[in-house]
Amino acid sequence: MRKNIVAGNWKMNKTLQEGVALATELKTLLAGKQPNCEVIIGTPFIHLATVAELLKDSVIKVSAENCADKPSGAYTGEVSAAMVASTGATYCIIGHSERRTYYGETYEILREKVQLALANGLKPIFCIGEVKEEREANKQNEVVKAQLEGSVFNLSAEEFGKIVLAYEPVWAIGTGLTATPEQAQEIHAYIRGLVAEKYGKQVADDCTILYGGSCNAKNAAGLFANPDIDGGLIGGASLKAEDFNAIINAF
Ligand code: PEP
Repeated sequence: MRKNIVAGNWKMNKTLQEGVALATELKTLLAGKQPNCEVIIGTPFIHLATVAELLKDSVIKVSAENCADKPSGAYTGEVSAAMVASTGATYCIIGHSERRTYYGETYEILREKVQLALANGLKPIFCIGEVKEEREANKQNEVVKAQLEGSVFNLSAEEFGKIVLAYEPVWAIGTGLTATPEQAQEIHAYIRGLVAEKYGKQVADDCTILYGGSCNAKNAAGLFANPDIDGGLIGGASLKAEDFNAIINAF
């Protein structure tokens, strides 16, 4: 059965103390509730262990925002998938457009990261999406197809069953521009079709595909009402507990 998910991506925001305060606030808001979706918060590496411990008795799961493309060794400043898993985090965002753009993460690098995350028991939240010029040239379908083929369609069906996809049009991330529910549904259905072609209908039906890009408390319900939109990956609006909670309540 396909899961609905609302996942936050704090990016490079919040000191440790601020992050603990935000996670605590969210935990309090959700205490005793059974949301109609899985709730995940993606935090910077330094918060993971503390926040995972804080949330261990709550419904909220914890994700890293990245992991290294190497298993271990002399890679100063990197954090491996095994290290992420050792904190109690269970998800890992991989392939966010900011990592592709600012840190030169190629299809090959992302393929390694996905493999290492899976090998260490983490569930990748794998991000795909086109830039503005590609949307304007109506190339969004070929872009997401190449991103899937380049980094995750090498997985076995069993491995692919463990990943969550996030369609994030780059022109909508942090810009206040959101894909319309119709635009998002159209490409989500296309993505699910690609998964069906590669892995069959059952795997495609079970695949959670999140929308990300200026999703907020006002537009979440309209997006989530569509049959192929299974929740959201939320940047800016995940930085305030009440805003994030309102998106959770959109389900
Ligand atoms: C994101 O970074 O994944 C994102 C969707 O950001 P925002 O919600 O701020 O557009």
